[in-house]
Amino acid sequence: STQEQTPQICVVGSGPAGFYTAQHLLKHHSRAHVDIYEKQLVPFGLVRFGVAPDHPEVKNVINTFTRTAHSDRCAFHGNVVVGRDVTVQELRDAYHAVVLSYGAEDHQALEIPGEELPGVFSARAFVGWYNGLPENRELAPDLSCDTAVVLGQGNVALDVARILLTPPEHLEELREMIQLPGTRPILDPADFLGLQDRIKEVPRPRKRLMELLLRAATEKPGVAEAARWASAPRAWGLRFLRSPQQVLPSPDGRRAAGIRLAVTRLEGVGEATRAVATGDVEDLPCGLVLSSIGYKSRPIDPSVPFDPKLGVIPNMEGRVVDMPGLYCSGWVKRGPTGVITTTMTDSFVTGQILLQDLKAGLLPSGPRPGYAAVRALLSSRGVWPVSFSDWEKLDAEEVSRGQGVGKPREKLLDPQEMLRLLGR
Ligand code: FAD
Repeated sequence: STQEQTPQICVVGSGPAGFYTAQHLLKHHSRAHVDIYEKQLVPFGLVRFGVAPDHPEVKNVINTFTRTAHSDRCAFHGNVVVGRDVTVQELRDAYHAVVLSYGAEDHQALEIPGEELPGVFSARAFVGWYNGLPENRELAPDLSCDTAVVLGQGNVALDVARILLTPPEHLEELREMIQLPGTRPILDPADFLGLQDRIKEVPRPRKRLMELLLRAATEKPGVAEAARWASAPRAWGLRFLRSPQQVLPSPDGRRAAGIRLAVTRLEGVGEATRAVATGDVEDLPCGLVLSSIGYKSRPIDPSVPFDPKLGVIPNMEGRVVDMPGLYCSGWVKRGPTGVITTTMTDSFVTGQILLQDLKAGLLPSGPRPGYAAVRALLSSRGVWPVSFSDWEKLDAEEVSRGQGVGKPREKLLDPQEMLRLLGR
């Protein structure tokens, strides 16, 4: 059948999940055609707008994604917001299969009083701001205060803390927090008591991390290190067993001036361990509060099932439940955790399941129009997609502007300017 000749597949989202799903489909099916729809004018999702600027080696995956985009069986269509400019049902009508890989664009709210005060930001917005995400370019966080509190201790929280501590001229380099120039760690040895015995049981990457922290907290620094710490103008620390209770306003009530933390203790053992409030609180003065307690996916379209509690599209190995021909991969499939390689593995699984279904005849038979039909819908709605070669023009412009100021690139932040540069 024609379907066997050219399966028309589309992927929604051009982050790691979208690109790795496309890569798997193109590699393991010799005729499949894959269109990638993206709401931004530029591709690569959190690789461009999340990964910290001092982790350039992580951004190398862009080279692999670019090779995928250059396949003559793959096309990138940016500037298309699925769910607004075209519905998921319209995509399902135009393609044999649709893969939703649109990530997690929202953040978990703290749900404590004072959260709305100026000076309180989600890590998501703060990361978007320092990474040039157009919707966050006006954020203008006031960084003139002495103390910033980051709520959460995950990878994103550490990225944010490191960026706050790093002098701009060092931002092109990779440095671990503990070795950051001009900073000293404040770690309470009491927080690490008893850890020595438990380190042996934990998996390797976490073990290395714990050993590093333990050494920084409990061992006396060497002479050179001690001298560096003594003269360090900036300090950072980790606080454990504290839970945010309220953002404290300044006397005039107009901005954040501190945070009230409930002191907690651990109860129970193993998986059942829970942090429970002791009743004590601690007030910490600060001018900036960054809540880094997780990203969150949004529902894309009323026709697609969504689990608001888990923040994912309900699925079995990437098959969206009760929606034949609809799949998902990446953070919207698993929830907003895991690094790029985790996302790669799960996207390959989705790609494999889709190809299995195709082979088993579970996808619609007969030819599908693919992009031709979607392009007609979009142009009737005044939506003009951009292509991968448009992105390459913007990329070249960013790199050339960067050369002028000694940076790898100077990101374009204004979508109107980007469209002008493309002659739109
Ligand atoms: P995303 O990367 O978010 O991609 C989703 C894409 O979908 C985006 O381009 C978005 O614009 C698009 N989209 C959303 N809605 C729509 C719509 N309606 N229509 C069309 N398109 C849409 N991992 C590492 O390995 N190393 C790191 O150093 C690292 N640093 C990180 C730092 C931060 C701050 C964060 C948040 C994550 C970091 N990660 C890192 C994790 C990594 O970024 C994720 O594992 C990965 O990006 C998830 O891929 P994804 O494709 O599911 O989501």
